[in-house]
Amino acid sequence: MDDRPATPVTVCIALGSNLGRRAETLRNAIRSLEQLSATRVVRVSAMIETSPVGPAGQGDYLNAAAVLETTLPPKDLLTHLQRIETEHGRVRRERWGPRTLDLDLILYGDVCMDEPGLTVPHPRFRERLFVLEPMARIAPDAVDPTTGRTISELHHAASSCDAAI
Ligand code: ATP
Ligand code: CA
Ligand code: CA
Repeated sequence: MDDRPATPVTVCIALGSNLGRRAETLRNAIRSLEQLSATRVVRVSAMIETSPVGPAGQGDYLNAAAVLETTLPPKDLLTHLQRIETEHGRVRRERWGPRTLDLDLILYGDVCMDEPGLTVPHPRFRERLFVLEPMARIAPDAVDPTTGRTISELHHAASSCDAAI
């Protein structure tokens, strides 16, 4: 099976870090994204500091977003994201626990898929200001294929209903 797209697809990635040298980790992660084959990093947001979601007692996050253009298929891209997480010191422990680096695949063009290990669009991004805020700065007009709403619209909706989860 070759599910490689014929032309580059616009992809949104969310980055987060709440352990170690957070800003340096995010910068290095962007560099790793720039080195991916068949991929171009088109835009990178500023970093924002956010309160953690999940188990208590962890430090604040730095979050950012990046827009890529790639012909890597979604699963290959996720495999690379997980490799980059590991290379930047991520150890998988409790769910939503502290981590040096988290890279989530938020949008992959207008693809909707729900397979073991990969759901796109990311199933929880619409309620998360820490994802929508940086995305809205660099890709306000990107469309969530599931709801048909733009990132800008989703960001406004999440901001106004106080659902920072
Ligand atoms: P959340 O997914 O709620 O943001 P998390 O990022 O802490 O939580 P992880 O432990 O990083 O969760 O990942 C759990 C699993 O989620 C991974 O093993 C991966 O296979 C799966 N996954 C499914 N869809 C996606 C996606 N769109 N992006 C990243 N990982 C995904
Ligand atoms: Ca995540
Ligand atoms: Ca993740």
